[in-house]
Amino acid sequence: MLENLKNKTLLIVGMGKSGQSVARFCLKHDIRFVAYDDKLTESTDYKIYSHVDQIFGIDGNVVHSIDLVIQSPGINGQIHPVIRCSKSKKIPILSDIDLFNQCRDHSIPCIGITGTNGKSTTTSLVAHILNDHLQKENSEKYAWVGGNIGVPVLDLLIQENQNEVAFYVLELSSYQLDIAQQIALDIALFLNITADHIDYHGTFDAYQLAKEKIFRAAKISIKPADLVVTSDIRILQDKCHLRGDHNLQNMQAAYLICKYLGVSLDTIYEAITSFKGIEHRQEIVFENEKCIVINDSKATNADATETALKAFESYPIFLILGGVAKDGGILSLKSYLEKVEKIYLIGQAQNLFLAQLQTMGIEKEKIETCETLEKAVSVSLSDIQKCGDNSSKSILLFSPACASFDQFLNFEDRGLRFKRLLDCYCSGCEPR
Ligand code: ADP
Repeated sequence: MLENLKNKTLLIVGMGKSGQSVARFCLKHDIRFVAYDDKLTESTDYKIYSHVDQIFGIDGNVVHSIDLVIQSPGINGQIHPVIRCSKSKKIPILSDIDLFNQCRDHSIPCIGITGTNGKSTTTSLVAHILNDHLQKENSEKYAWVGGNIGVPVLDLLIQENQNEVAFYVLELSSYQLDIAQQIALDIALFLNITADHIDYHGTFDAYQLAKEKIFRAAKISIKPADLVVTSDIRILQDKCHLRGDHNLQNMQAAYLICKYLGVSLDTIYEAITSFKGIEHRQEIVFENEKCIVINDSKATNADATETALKAFESYPIFLILGGVAKDGGILSLKSYLEKVEKIYLIGQAQNLFLAQLQTMGIEKEKIETCETLEKAVSVSLSDIQKCGDNSSKSILLFSPACASFDQFLNFEDRGLRFKRLLDCYCSGCEPR
């Protein structure tokens, strides 16, 4: 396939993370390409165009003769002028996933994971179990993770140490699946579905159809209905770091995948128990006799915060909320928020959330407006210190139910800031 590509000129549309990886792949293999992005971005290695006419010319005036378009995820093909123009000229349109599928070594098992929630957790857990298994077998190979998490898929193919790959474990978003033609996975997992990204897909059915493309040409398909939690997995949860019913689904899914791949049950159980979870997702960052501190910065909407509140509902919870609110704010969390010890509000959503909490009838003394994360951390930790209840550890839960871009670069930046503040308060130094 690679040889075929060398006779063609590609047009890469969208120069985000995956578009840039397509460009790196083309540069590495001497494939001719033209790059396009709506917002002109700089690159020292190639020119990036930002106007349709610079690619296709005006009035049929050919500027570049394009044989194949590679569309980036998130570019809406129904409305984007370059994709519409490519379609009208009947130029084939593929994605980086298609190129990966065409160019990868098919003797290496490839696992794809999609779903509305839990993709990253399950992808990381599967890789963790497989790596434990490989280590026990004294293999010098590893499970390589990519796609929507970590490195884009084509970067996996241009790394130096190709002989070290034992498995590919790919997280696949609905955007990536929507624009892919063929994936041909050895195992395809569809975890769950709830309404999300409808602005892009148009309808829930279209969103579901995009996700179901993961099964195209898959050797083994695992569907949401196959993820009935078995008693051995339920028992295991007491010993592991993954809390909450939602994580049972992720554990069950990882267990099924690894069983299909021939990993022994003992290794699967041991590896699930030793898995620490992933950063910013209900991540336990501190624990002493008085409290457990959880960084759930990835909770960018109320649904995600709900899963965290559910997972820790048996504890007294001190909750930090706020940032840029999503539609409906925190109204859906009423039954959980009524049980929380105290709520600290930060960011742009502070006043909206305050009003919503008051509508829910939550007492004033249980709410504190803090503006900043610095203040919220300091006040909440001091409240926990003062709290007389020693019968159970308290939980300081940072699960903001909001996007982060009012005060932070992204949810990772927000989570790291939270952890740094915590370190400072615990070690008595001034936060920077
Ligand atoms: P994704 O990669 O699909 O966004 P993550 O694994 O990063 O999912 O988890 C993000 C958040 O989604 C978690 O903090 C948790 O609140 C929630 N979550 C995780 N797994 C599930 C699941 N199986 N069902 C429902 N919610 C989940």
